[in-house]
Amino acid sequence: MRPVLSVTSECAPLVKTGGLADVAGALPAALAPQGWGMRTLLPGYGSVLKALRRPKTVAEFPDHFGGKARVLSGKASGLDILALDAPHLYDRPGTPYLDAGGIDHPDNPQRFAALGYAAAEIAKGALGDWTPEVVHCHDWQAGLAPYYLRNDKIGTVLTIHNIAFQGVAPAYLIDALRLDRSDFTQAGYEYWGQVSTLKAGLRYATRLTTVSPTYAEELTTPEFGMGLDGLLRAREGDLSGILNGIDTVTWDPANDPATVPYKTAKGKARAKKRLRKEFGLPETDGPLAVVVSRLSHQKGLDVLLDALPALIDRGGQLVVLGSGDRALEANLRKAADHPNVAVHIGYDEAMSHRIIAGGDAIIIPSRFEPCGLTQLYGLRYGTIPVVARTGGLVDTVIDASPMALRAGVATGLQFGPVTAHALATALLRLIALHRDPTTWARMQKNAMATEVGWDASAPAYAALYDEVAGA
Ligand code: ADP
Repeated sequence: MRPVLSVTSECAPLVKTGGLADVAGALPAALAPQGWGMRTLLPGYGSVLKALRRPKTVAEFPDHFGGKARVLSGKASGLDILALDAPHLYDRPGTPYLDAGGIDHPDNPQRFAALGYAAAEIAKGALGDWTPEVVHCHDWQAGLAPYYLRNDKIGTVLTIHNIAFQGVAPAYLIDALRLDRSDFTQAGYEYWGQVSTLKAGLRYATRLTTVSPTYAEELTTPEFGMGLDGLLRAREGDLSGILNGIDTVTWDPANDPATVPYKTAKGKARAKKRLRKEFGLPETDGPLAVVVSRLSHQKGLDVLLDALPALIDRGGQLVVLGSGDRALEANLRKAADHPNVAVHIGYDEAMSHRIIAGGDAIIIPSRFEPCGLTQLYGLRYGTIPVVARTGGLVDTVIDASPMALRAGVATGLQFGPVTAHALATALLRLIALHRDPTTWARMQKNAMATEVGWDASAPAYAALYDEVAGA
């Protein structure tokens, strides 16, 4: 096996706030058959340290961004983990990024610089008996690793999972983050007078990827590049889009302990009945639409609320599971006064399985979406995705256009732009398709047959590592 180090702040099932964790957690198993043995470097959060089986200290850093640190090696949930055990940085309550009160940890720049620095030290031989040929960095949290390795001959890949998060830090931290002042320029890691760790990654990594071909194109435009489009245009030849897959074992309708398993779409009826019961929804003829999502502006659920009458005035129903933006949570709760709308505010993995299994359709009205995973879960479970025409949603769902329906290949619905009017129109189309049992059954069958695992993308990453390792 050729050695590759993955550097990430989240990795399912050990620590997760979003899709990054799913992808980081799935990559090692996807890449092993390609001949790449991946070890994953994670911050030593409590949940990570607790999960490590028989951890061994494999490196020590006496002064690591304000305290002592060591690298622990061990297996956890089948993954080969390297945990950066640095209690002064990671042993605290809250999420990986926020304190218990929901505010960013004030030393996040140091916490993740420490992760990137440890990655660079490992790449330079800190473990002694294992050095990676390639360092694969994820998002801004690992963005400084390519910078710290800028003078070494080690291939690095930076994957953009979401360009909205850019790791911006005040310039007075330059020394504390162990950055060279001479690179504090527009051509370096400087970003409008501050430090951006994502920009550093985009500037210094050997190759760049993002999680879908359409998002790779979008990122080079001012509309989606969020200030980094110029740099990405300059590096267009080094940027590619590799579609995310999902873990088809955890997400398998035929074998899902969280819900009533089913092999064909017919079997969904029981899962749907149970879901309605769980949420106290009456039996109706209309489609049961579902949402599982972070509640942030990106996800466009405010637009869904505006478009909702198109669905529920015609006997449709909605179940939402999500958490995040307080105002949106409150508005969703208000919408749940309607007998055909149910909302659960919170984060609940098992419930997300029950909801996706029990729904007829899953709605994803994102304003931008690098790849999106829940539409892939939807496809796998025969839960028809209704998606905004953006990013990875474009690449994964075949719209029920007249031609696609005639060719018998449709798997979902796309709409755009992200306005209440366009979404309402899509919901009306959904209702019409749902009323036509033959067409609906065909779409469900197509959806469930869609390849949503890693079979296509794992070789693409392997080919990229190959190039980068030799570079
Ligand atoms: P993002 O990473 O932008 O949040 P993705 O669609 O790529 O969006 O990934 C989101 C992941 O988080 C999916 O695995 C989804 O099922 C999960 N998720 C989001 N919100 C919740 C929630 N409230 N409860 C359970 N799982 C959730």
